[in-house]
Amino acid sequence: MTDTSYSGGCACGAVRFEMNDAPIYQGHCQCRKCQHMTGTGHSTMIVFRRESVKITGTLSNWGFVADSGQTTLRHFCPTCGSPIFSRAALRDDLLAFNGGNFDQASSLKPEAVCYTSTGPAWDYLDPALPKFATMPQGEIMERE
Ligand SMILES: [Zn+2]
Ligand SMILES: [Zn+2]
Repeated sequence: MTDTSYSGGCACGAVRFEMNDAPIYQGHCQCRKCQHMTGTGHSTMIVFRRESVKITGTLSNWGFVADSGQTTLRHFCPTCGSPIFSRAALRDDLLAFNGGNFDQASSLKPEAVCYTSTGPAWDYLDPALPKFATMPQGEIMERE
C-alpha cells in the first residue's frame, strides 16, 4: 500500500470504493450515532476529499440534525447494512469513510478520539491518542 492508494467495500461486496489521494484526517468517534451505526463503542472515520473518491454500487442513506445544527447524511449498503461513509451538509466536499471497510484497514492510523464523554468504559482505545469530550473546535471531520 502507498499513502495515496486506498480501497475497500461493504461486507456483501455490492459496494466498492477507491481513493487516489491520502486521507486528510483519521480518527475514532464515540458519539451515540456512531455507536448505533457500528453496533459497538465507536466508529473509525477516515476522511477524504470528495474529488479523490470513486464509488461503485448503490447506497441508501439516512439523515439527522447533528449537535451543530447541520444535517449529516450517513450512507450504507442496503443489502448488508455496512456503513460506508458520512457527509455533513456544510462540508459536502469531504466524505468520512468507515475504517473497517478498507482493504488496508490494518494500515490506518487514527490520530484522535472524539466524543469520549459518551464512550463506554469497555471500548478501550490507544491511551496515547489525544482525546476530546465532544468535537474540538476547528476539527475537520463531521460535527455531531
Ligand atoms: Zn453490502
Ligand atoms: Zn460520531
